[in-house]
Amino acid sequence: MHALTSATVEVPLALGRALDYAVEPEAAPPVGSVVRVTVGRRSYPGVVTAVGPYDGPHRLKPLGPVLASPLANSLLALADFVADYYQVTRGVAYGLLVPAAGSPAVEVAAWRLTEVGQAALAALPDRRRLARELAGHINREGVLSLASIETAGDGLRREFASWRKAGWLAPVAAVTEDGAPPAERGRARLPAFTPAQQAALDILAEEAGRSPPRPVLLHGVTGSGKTAIFLARAAETIAAGRQVLLLVPEINLTPQLTDWVRTALPAARIALLHSRVAPGERNRAWHAAHTGKADLVIGTRLSVFASLPRLGLVIVDEEHDGSYKQDESPRYHARDVAVMRGRLEGVPVVLASATPCLESWQNMRLDRYGYVHLAERATQAPLPAIRLIPARGQRQQRQGGVALGLVDAIRERLARDEQSLILVNRRGYAPALYCPHCAWTAACRHCDAKLTWHQVDRRLRCHHCGWQEAPPSHCPACGHAELAAVGVGTQRVEAALRELLPEARVARADSDALSGRQAWEALVRRMQRREIDVLVGTQMLAKGHDFPLLTLVGVLEADRALFSTDFRAQEDLLALLTQVAGRAGRHLSSDGRAGEVIVQTDFPEHEVYRTLISGDFAGFADALLERRRALGLPPATRMALVRAEGKREEDVKAFFDYAAGVVRGALSEGQVYAPQAAPLARKAGETRWLMVVVAPRVKPLQAALSTLARALRLNRPRVKWVIDIDPYDFG
Ligand SMILES: [Zn+2]
Ligand SMILES: [Zn+2]
Repeated sequence: MHALTSATVEVPLALGRALDYAVEPEAAPPVGSVVRVTVGRRSYPGVVTAVGPYDGPHRLKPLGPVLASPLANSLLALADFVADYYQVTRGVAYGLLVPAAGSPAVEVAAWRLTEVGQAALAALPDRRRLARELAGHINREGVLSLASIETAGDGLRREFASWRKAGWLAPVAAVTEDGAPPAERGRARLPAFTPAQQAALDILAEEAGRSPPRPVLLHGVTGSGKTAIFLARAAETIAAGRQVLLLVPEINLTPQLTDWVRTALPAARIALLHSRVAPGERNRAWHAAHTGKADLVIGTRLSVFASLPRLGLVIVDEEHDGSYKQDESPRYHARDVAVMRGRLEGVPVVLASATPCLESWQNMRLDRYGYVHLAERATQAPLPAIRLIPARGQRQQRQGGVALGLVDAIRERLARDEQSLILVNRRGYAPALYCPHCAWTAACRHCDAKLTWHQVDRRLRCHHCGWQEAPPSHCPACGHAELAAVGVGTQRVEAALRELLPEARVARADSDALSGRQAWEALVRRMQRREIDVLVGTQMLAKGHDFPLLTLVGVLEADRALFSTDFRAQEDLLALLTQVAGRAGRHLSSDGRAGEVIVQTDFPEHEVYRTLISGDFAGFADALLERRRALGLPPATRMALVRAEGKREEDVKAFFDYAAGVVRGALSEGQVYAPQAAPLARKAGETRWLMVVVAPRVKPLQAALSTLARALRLNRPRVKWVIDIDPYDFG
């Protein structure tokens, strides 16, 4: 009898088991290899977890090509941790490890015409337009560059694919240059360090020398030179022949940051891994990291899983940023995964922020994390002056929510040819359209939510489900003819400022005005060329960019966060205000003045604002931590959220009757709160409920949720359900 060999492969699907594929014994790839396999009619990249004789009952599909050599055991262990901790299948967790494009290493720099291709092309009729176009590319460049294919349209790409299939093209090997020796590649070009910065570097080096190293919180005020410090550590790591992983929040991955890193580490081989990089380029970056040909990977949350065989340092910049938490399955938090990765690989992890999250702050207070504090700015520019002015009043309402004091301050900047930034963390014109006669408000027919009035294109939009409609000409309830826009959004502020300051060039930056990266970069260029005097926008403005002439930041509508039901809202508001304040006056103004931040608030005594002025973050964080302890909230406890949504409310309720019973039976310590309707109880026509589970430690929480996840996978409830560990979204 013919003995079969099979490779067991984890595929990125929620199957709950790995699949077997037939392979020739001598061709069996080692465990940990990345391979391509088919499931049904679709093909997926997967990870081989076992190879052995097969005597099962099924006829096996053949194993597809090997995409990459084996991943390190520590990386597989990281995926196992993610599967257990975040309650997803192993297949889904392993899916995080494989290159997104899932293609083999491209050692190809370009394509050239073969002799067959040349002959065929010579005989080609002129009317084959796409073929002529492709030939044109080759004639111009001598070869067909990968870039020209990646940016080409679908038709041209199909033409390219058919040429390859016909053997008209042959790959031109990329020059695999290994670069200069490590000592050279790790050369840093950084400004001279202040004594405070040097002391911080010394502590980081000392912490890195501990065995095993523990994570270090690098806490520094805006402008204290945190980036220069962690880049100096990166340089030393590269010089020692190791690799560095630099995680940045989604929005920070600007060309400006990348340019800065390239300038600071001129000889380092840098790879970018994030969703905005074209698939082919991302695939090359992944393989460069995997084969050790990249010294430094810069990436957003998914890159925490990049294969880095010589990893020597992990840096999480702006570690408090919400974009590190993935809001769809698997709901991992990249900062927490980074800390676990550091532990599994015995590698130092640096968490940098001006406003660390309370989770990291608590770990520092408990001495689980090291701590470096930079209290001074490294540059000459002093911290911006903070001014609180009243938010309410008749005049503000008439002026689209902008207080007179802020208008005057903008006018001063106009006179000095400087720029202003106005943060309004709500897009649209007004958050509600309202009938003053009968109190009717325009609501979404699919969600329990008000529709936002967008004056620019005269539409009512739901910011939860995307529904939009034309506004009614009269109140649908009472027939009253004049409907009123209530509240303030970016469009209203923009309109008000245009009216109040007709001489100013006002622009708006929110997700309505800017779709896609190009629009954002075009806006940044206009700011840099001083074609904009006042920029109004949402929190996307708070981060990343450095505009030398920006000396005033105004903040509207910040008070809303003080009364949010989200227990992290105040912490998040301080982080946002600190970050946006950092945009003002990174340099001195022409006449030597510091930047200014004006916050419109009716609660000037609130601790968030007091801390913004005093800069006493430690006092704020310690007090907040104490309160969380008293209330039994994270990080003093561990929390999970079970969510479900379905068309029929009775299905959702039945689901929670069952789920609450399972968790109550399985939770040894802690508390299961009664399931309840979500704050947004109906979204896109679905009824939404949630249930909070809290435990003093992570172990009992994990055990109870694993029991629930297993039961639910067997039971297949009639609703969509998720288990969210360490949840950030309670909406
Ligand atoms: Zn009415
Ligand atoms: Zn809706």
